[in-house]
Amino acid sequence: MSDVADLAAELDGIELSTDRALLKQKSRDFYWYSPILKAQLDGKSAELIARPKDETEVLRVLAACRARRVPVTVRGGGTGNYGQCVPLEGGVLLDMTAMSAPIALKDGVVEVEAGAKMIDLDLWCRERGWELKLWPSTKRTATIGGFVAGGGAGVGGIAHGTMRERGNLIGARVATMQDPPRVLDLEGLAANPVNRTYGTTGVLTRIRVPLAPAQAWRDVAIAFPDFVPASRFALDLAFSDGIPKKMCGVFDSQLPPFFKGLADAVPAGHALVLAMVTPAGLGALAELAAEHGGRIVAEQDAVAAERDPDATPFYEYCWNHTTLQVLKKDRGVSYLQCRFPFEDTLKAVEAVRIPFRDEVWMHTECVRFGGRTTMSALPVIRWRSAERLYEIIRAFEAAGIGIANPHVLTIEEGSGYRRVPGDQLGFKRMADPLGLLNPGKMRDFTIEEHAA
Ligand SMILES: Cc1cc2nc3c(=O)[nH]c(=O)nc-3n(C[C@H](O)[C@H](O)[C@H](O)COP(=O)(O)OP(=O)(O)OC[C@H]3O[C@@H](n4cnc5c(N)ncnc54)[C@H](O)[C@@H]3O)c2cc1C
Repeated sequence: MSDVADLAAELDGIELSTDRALLKQKSRDFYWYSPILKAQLDGKSAELIARPKDETEVLRVLAACRARRVPVTVRGGGTGNYGQCVPLEGGVLLDMTAMSAPIALKDGVVEVEAGAKMIDLDLWCRERGWELKLWPSTKRTATIGGFVAGGGAGVGGIAHGTMRERGNLIGARVATMQDPPRVLDLEGLAANPVNRTYGTTGVLTRIRVPLAPAQAWRDVAIAFPDFVPASRFALDLAFSDGIPKKMCGVFDSQLPPFFKGLADAVPAGHALVLAMVTPAGLGALAELAAEHGGRIVAEQDAVAAERDPDATPFYEYCWNHTTLQVLKKDRGVSYLQCRFPFEDTLKAVEAVRIPFRDEVWMHTECVRFGGRTTMSALPVIRWRSAERLYEIIRAFEAAGIGIANPHVLTIEEGSGYRRVPGDQLGFKRMADPLGLLNPGKMRDFTIEEHAA
């Protein structure tokens, strides 16, 4: 971008920065978990940061950038894993964190500005008797806009599925890159084109999501002599409709020693299950654990733990935090994202866990898709090379396991389906015909095709 100073002058009154250290910091996310992405993305940077405080300022930034053909990459908390908010072509980084106010809570639906931190939003809802149905394990730093645009699975998935489940995203307001940029209010299915599109189809300014009645969640850690009974227990818990639960992850015995704060509680060589249940479900959970040979080794108030900066809520060992816990002690690992079949789930897990056990440390999470329960996995992988990674991926796929590849940049390549839904591509052509929103992240969109 040759005219940063001109653009900044035009955006006078909006919070802007060209500070080099801040540009570097805000142009990154957690892509470095992948040695492949690290090699591709290190050094990429925006040239100007704009931090709008309302929709009017968002529209001003978009209009100025459109007129000058300057790319815009949106950023929330910057906790994405695939370089989603790394600007590939420079330009403006649109920092949404000043737009964080809750707007309304009515009939179990909250409307909130997209830059709200999920922990703050959940607390605000809790004070009114409600809680978020879903959150990522990065709840303490991620924004709701980033979760919708870049994530969508995580804590709560065992009960409510993912953000793509019908009804989990009620609506959104989104600013487009049309001529002139405008704000659209999308409801229900109409909001699908902005659901997990990495900010390529518009800037989310407000989100509406349904809530669940607030619960006094308990974190429970259960040790098992082996991974198989631990997994059987986890699946039985997932299917136990009488036990209200928010999370259940299973970790093979190589992983607990990396979990600072929990490691000492888990006997050496044991597998671990981490679950979140309501106080009413604790008794039934203990009985179920005993039936499978498990022993409760730690328990805490999950809600108090997430508000205490010195404590670790158990979800910060789960989902992709497992990789982070290992990386804190051993930088020679990376990870994969898998989805196991609904039928014979454990058989499929074992078909890959056993042969790769030396280099793939299995970690699964119980989750629902379309009303059916299975396990997702974010196994930690001893890094050898890209070639070896793709050998492992091929072996997993041959065993019928779906892979959402976290070592690629585009929505399509990272998707288990290897494509973006047609309505998202069509919406992109309408909302961002010049391809200025996070360019390079939606592979199937080409400007040439549409340039007229
Ligand atoms: C340790 C660790 C654990 C994780 N665990 C989980 C997990 O359990 N579940 C999960 O789903 N993900 C997980 N993630 C990934 C990530 O933390 C989440 O997806 C998170 O919700 C992203 O939110 P963010 O505000 O940090 O988004 P960012 O990283 O800032 O952005 C993510 C994407 O969304 C776009 N975006 C952000 N805000 C907007 C907006 N307002 N409008 C349009 N586009 C926008 C960005 O351009 C980018 O493409 C994990 C990551 C790490 C590092």
